[in-house]
Amino acid sequence: MGRIDKGVKCSVSGCGKDAVRSISAEKVKSAGLKVGSGEKRAYLCREHYKEFKKKTKKDKTVEKWRYSV
Ligand SMILES: [Zn+2]
Repeated sequence: MGRIDKGVKCSVSGCGKDAVRSISAEKVKSAGLKVGSGEKRAYLCREHYKEFKKKTKKDKTVEKWRYSV
C-alpha cells in the first residue's frame, strides 16, 4: 500500500493532478473527499493527501476529546 505507478492521476473529482499515494477509497470517502464510486483504491495528489491527513487527524482528535469529556 502506498506505492503507485507513475502517471496515475488523483482520483478526487475535478483534480487530475499527479497522484502520490494510493489509499483505500473508503477511508478517503470517510475523510470527506470526493472520489469515484466503485473503486477500491483512491489515488491522491500531494495536496489532497495533505487534506486527507488533516481530516483524519482532526477526526481522531475529536474522538479523543469526546471520550475524555
Ligand atoms: Zn488531487
